Amino acid sequence: MFGLKKNKFSQVHIDQELIEEIINIAKEFYPNEFSAMLQGKVEDNILKINGLIFLPGAASESGAVMEIFMMPMLSDAVGSVHSHPIYSAQPSAADLQFFSKHGYFHIIIAQPYNKESIRVYNSYGDLVNYTII
Ligand SMILES: [Zn+2]
Repeated sequence: MFGLKKNKFSQVHIDQELIEEIINIAKEFYPNEFSAMLQGKVEDNILKINGLIFLPGAASESGAVMEIFMMPMLSDAVGSVHSHPIYSAQPSAADLQFFSKHGYFHIIIAQPYNKESIRVYNSYGDLVNYTII
């Protein structure tokens, strides 16, 4: 799937509580964006997303710009999540550039910040399927 060479998986599971946490944080930060890294691991061919890693500079008014120099130290970071204070979860050009470089699994949550306004993309910006567990 996803063109991965090292971390092969055929399914993506996102923790139910993590989804709720993301929804709550997005609402809390509105009208600003929030961004964080996603924590997860591959087990039995399933990528399990189960936590957030907040980085310095993650709360910005200017968009999903993260101080990503810390990234190589975060071995269990698998991708990113950020919110859009608009009703579109379409990745921006900057988002797509970011996706291609930092992990292989990226969540955008748009307004009105619920499960239906969450979109998940791979590093190429293609939508990927996932299951909330
Ligand atoms: Zn964005």
